[in-house]
Amino acid sequence: MIKPNAFVDYLTNKFPDAVCELKFKSTFQLLIAVILSAQCTDKRVNMVTDTLFKKYSSPKDFAQIPQDVLEQKIKSCGFYHNKAKNIIACAKGILEKYDGEVPRNFDDLITLAGVGRKTANVVCAVAYGENRCAVDTHVLRVSNRLGFAKTDNPDVCERELTKRFKTGLDKLHYRMVLFGRYHCKAIKPNCMECDIKDECKYYKTKH
Ligand code: SF4
Repeated sequence: MIKPNAFVDYLTNKFPDAVCELKFKSTFQLLIAVILSAQCTDKRVNMVTDTLFKKYSSPKDFAQIPQDVLEQKIKSCGFYHNKAKNIIACAKGILEKYDGEVPRNFDDLITLAGVGRKTANVVCAVAYGENRCAVDTHVLRVSNRLGFAKTDNPDVCERELTKRFKTGLDKLHYRMVLFGRYHCKAIKPNCMECDIKDECKYYKTKH
């Protein structure tokens, strides 16, 4: 298996500029953008929030939007019914339980409607600079293929990655997403052109 440090170096060279591409002006807006980004591209979310955040930007604003109105505004992000319901409930939860401020604490964040570990990890990493890794489908697949984890469960994968990578997990997340999206793809990964194939568990089992 490739050593964690070597993998970090490899990905850093390959994707030096990997960052959160969602656009936001406050931690609350980041939270809303991350909720909207489930099963949707960051580009699409940015198009939607560019208009949305001009009219609605605070928890108070979102707590007062009628659900059918919000649904229409976020429709193109997909799963708009559930996302609208969760966003409104999340905004109300922030107002009622946290005085209108997005909690700084991971355990508090995941008590909010629509906020799972993946969303809370992104918020804690991007807004608060914590060493956390959100595990999406790309991170899960790449971790399993390389042997960093052996699980279908994103929470278990997150624990394994946190154990192996002591720092820089936030950057690692974005780099692994790009690596999984464009190189180590779900179907037909570019194994023959892969510089780390000799240290890849998946490659060894297939060749
Ligand atoms: S060898 Fe293939 S499966 Fe392994 S990391 Fe490279 S692209 Fe992914």
